Amino acid sequence: MRIVLRKVTKSPLDFEVKSNEITFKGYLEYHSAKLILLKAKISGTLEKSCDICAQDFDLEVDEEIEFFINDGIFEDDGSTELDVVESLDGNVDIQELLHSEIELIRSDYHSCDNCKS
Ligand SMILES: [Zn+2]
Repeated sequence: MRIVLRKVTKSPLDFEVKSNEITFKGYLEYHSAKLILLKAKISGTLEKSCDICAQDFDLEVDEEIEFFINDGIFEDDGSTELDVVESLDGNVDIQELLHSEIELIRSDYHSCDNCKS
């Protein structure tokens, strides 16, 4: 699902994509200058190997995500408190964003129920 950033306005543009058991649901909204706000929720289950015993287990995911997408190179003047992701082709690929968020979650430290004390 690709969205052209130029077409995002002040009225929220809803999206919902899925990857296996994970749902990524939220909206894009024009903020200011070339910044587009993305607010979304990632929920579902993710297969992950335990960082202690290396067994695969289902990790419950329920995370709120909020950041800006800048249409082009972002010049930081220090006033933006949220993370900014740059888009160099004027598009945002929601599926690709979801995949990178999933990779981020996977790379965090997680242990299975058996290893949790
Ligand atoms: Zn474990």
